Amino acid sequence: MSTIDTDEDVIDNDEPVLSMENVSVEYQDESLLESALPDSLTERLGMGEEPVHAVDDVSLEVGEEDVVVLIGESGSGKTTLGRTAIGLQEPTAGSVKYRGYDIQDVERGEHAGEVYAEDVRRALQIVHQDSDAAMNPYRTIRSQLAEPLKLWYPEMDLNDRQERIATMLRTTGVTPAEDYMERYPHELSGGEKQRVAIIRAMLLEPDLILADEVVSALDVSLRIEIMDLLLDLQEMFGTSYLFVSHNLTNARYIADKADGRIAVMYLGRIVEVGTADEIINDPSHPYTQILKWASLPLDPDDARKTITDESPMMSEEAPDPRNIPSGCRFHTTCPKAHEVCTEVDPDLIGGEEREHRAACFREDPSHEYWDSESIHGGDREIPL
Ligand code: SF4
Repeated sequence: MSTIDTDEDVIDNDEPVLSMENVSVEYQDESLLESALPDSLTERLGMGEEPVHAVDDVSLEVGEEDVVVLIGESGSGKTTLGRTAIGLQEPTAGSVKYRGYDIQDVERGEHAGEVYAEDVRRALQIVHQDSDAAMNPYRTIRSQLAEPLKLWYPEMDLNDRQERIATMLRTTGVTPAEDYMERYPHELSGGEKQRVAIIRAMLLEPDLILADEVVSALDVSLRIEIMDLLLDLQEMFGTSYLFVSHNLTNARYIADKADGRIAVMYLGRIVEVGTADEIINDPSHPYTQILKWASLPLDPDDARKTITDESPMMSEEAPDPRNIPSGCRFHTTCPKAHEVCTEVDPDLIGGEEREHRAACFREDPSHEYWDSESIHGGDREIPL
């Protein structure tokens, strides 16, 4: 498929599409908290004196045509980190750079002449879980898809715009395209609406799309179709994805097929990062191991039915993100926690930036952890 002829390559350098360094996000304001955290967690926390530490000192890079999956439970900070990555949320500390330019500096016009806020907004797009919320129910699909093209490519004439939209609808399997262009959102199925939402983001040929739980509301066969579509579009457009999911099976599917990475988040931190194979078949961090234990078997023929096993977690209650536990933040739940884990906060251990790493002392065979007493009277095994 031909791409739109624009002067978008004004930002032409060897810097990563996205780099986040020591990013933290705290919420003190209730309205911000409500927009960023799931309702259940917002209700549980309410607002108080202390800020909520939604993301805490996270560094992550997304390269050219890269796929990075952020996975974690509700309230782990994955959505807040994703929103911060594309500039929808300002970090409380640290920096988020698009091709080497600090996004917030660009917003303030500090790189005028080199790169503008509009360039960054076009380059970093989002597709939401709820495609309905992103659509105007009173406008046709043609009208909704024409809108971003008019805004970002005003030189494009009506015929080119129509052709562009029809081609994208055909490419993504929404056919007959001419028919669908005149439909309203309520005349589309859930899968079709999600395809239109993806087209809307992709029409701008972004460098990166934040795919925020985009397949969570779909049934299993449709999930695979949509993830395959994202990967096909990546080949055509060279887009990178930051794919946010709470589902390990989805994470594994897309990261594996794209040769990408999975970053596991717990209570605002990345606790393990690696390839799909490393995270699924050889998880190092006890939290990742428990996530795997709690997931349904990836292979339907796998007789292991772990959810009937006794839980290996030492506590079922997630800690309050306003009052993060001392030392390793996972120690109140971890079945392998030792005394040292209550005092010292582990960094990611295990290799270079893009290699398999886990924030757990067990990764270091010479760490004092091994001489420190278990806080549970012995390590408990995690069935995998
Ligand atoms: S550092 Fe300690 S508490 Fe944290 S995950 Fe490792 S063993 Fe568990």
